[in-house]
Amino acid sequence: SATDGDTIRETFLRFFERNGHRRIEGASLVPVGDPTLLFVNSGMAPLKRYFTGEKVPPAPDLCDVQGCVRTKDIDDVGDRHHITYFEMLGSWSIGHYFKERAVDLAYALLTGDFGLDPRRLYVSVFGGDEALGLPPDEESARAWERAGVPRDRIVALPAEDNFWGPAGQSGPCGPCTEVFLDTGEEFGPAYVPGGVFDTKRRYIEIWNAGVFMQFDKGLDGVLRPLPFTSVDTGSGLERMELALNGLDSVYDTSLFAPLVRTVQDVLGETGEVLHHHRVIADHLRAAVAIMSDGVRPGNEGRGYIPRRLIRKCVTLAMGRHRERLDVAPIVDTVVRSLGPTYPRMAAEQAAVTAAIAEERDEFGDTVRRGLDQLDRVVARHGRVSGTDAFHLFATYGLPVEITRDLAAARGVSLDREEFYEALRRHRELSRGTRTDRRLRVDDVLPAAVASRPATEFLGYDTLSAEATVL
Ligand code: ATP
Ligand code: MG
Ligand code: MG
Ligand code: MG
Repeated sequence: SATDGDTIRETFLRFFERNGHRRIEGASLVPVGDPTLLFVNSGMAPLKRYFTGEKVPPAPDLCDVQGCVRTKDIDDVGDRHHITYFEMLGSWSIGHYFKERAVDLAYALLTGDFGLDPRRLYVSVFGGDEALGLPPDEESARAWERAGVPRDRIVALPAEDNFWGPAGQSGPCGPCTEVFLDTGEEFGPAYVPGGVFDTKRRYIEIWNAGVFMQFDKGLDGVLRPLPFTSVDTGSGLERMELALNGLDSVYDTSLFAPLVRTVQDVLGETGEVLHHHRVIADHLRAAVAIMSDGVRPGNEGRGYIPRRLIRKCVTLAMGRHRERLDVAPIVDTVVRSLGPTYPRMAAEQAAVTAAIAEERDEFGDTVRRGLDQLDRVVARHGRVSGTDAFHLFATYGLPVEITRDLAAARGVSLDREEFYEALRRHRELSRGTRTDRRLRVDDVLPAAVASRPATEFLGYDTLSAEATVL
């Protein structure tokens, strides 16, 4: 039966409350007391200290809905199931129950309250790892089997998929088990045991139904047992709605469909939903969420992300219509959808709309000049060479990725390799012949470009990453 995002949130939380979990408030997207993290990127992130024993939770078993931002996924946006800002439905057991009950609860919710057809569900378990010195997770596999999942739908995957650890850092970690939705034949061949489990297309991950935290990874990389074991689960609300309503993508959900329509209206492009409609919907939604939590566009650290998101939308829109992107109706649609759940978004709507419009106007002039030049190049040569792209970057501040988008909108392609070659040549001329260093924007930016142009997303989640690589 069809169900919307608001209903799914409540169904999830009530199920876990009924099963002894205390409902807590989700945290701000800006991590508190965690300078290593750019944005909260999982439900567990704000609760980290409960799992190491540094802090005592309000109850052993918890549940919530947590806004998450994944900068690592930005390049995937526009596919069926990766978005920049999403809501994670989370449940935890801190030093209380472990694998078997976690699996039972997940299966009961999915096939009970949510009413998913069990034949569409597959699960993955940790397949063991020699380097870590850990055997396959038979306990989880057996728990799923007892719950009702046949063996041939339980897939053992390597550590890179099913051993969860803090990204590059120290902290609690352990094997995990995940639930996938079979989205059907039209998205590829069926999984057969021992064959390829295609999680890019046919099988969409809907729930990390248990990270079983058993170890504390030291700064030396060594795994030591935690003082107690815990369970951390997380499921994307938008993906869950895709699953429950049998939709093709998250853009068809109640959480996104009105937004995509508004984007089309604003652009005056009706009819088929195109990739850039999805991207603009996603990016402005994420910018609204981030900025409602107090971040403003800027060149450093956190502010760089909303800047980059907004600039991408501005170029996508202007590359087609040369007009300013009318952001107010788009922000309004985001707030209509999420404001009732996140009152801060409603309270900040006017300020956020103004700040997005300001960023748009500031960058819009750059884009317009770059576009004029780009059109001259296309008219003269019928293509955009890497050298042209480099010139657009160095003189007009147009990032190569954006030049590529604009060129694509004009039906011409851009050779990125050639661009990097031109960049390399420039560096060698101005800096001698060292070619081993990573290329940095600062190395090539002429002083004439007053504000540093947006560079490509690095896909970093930590503040320590080098934020200026092209
Ligand atoms: P994927 O493999 O699809 O990228 P993931 O393994 O990175 O997902 P987890 O870190 O396990 O995801 O996060 C828990 C859940 O959050 C996922 O099972 C999924 O439902 C949801 N999720 C993760 N990333 C995204 C995203 N970019 N957009 C929407 N939902 C997401
Ligand atoms: Mg991922
Ligand atoms: Mg995954
Ligand atoms: Mg996962």
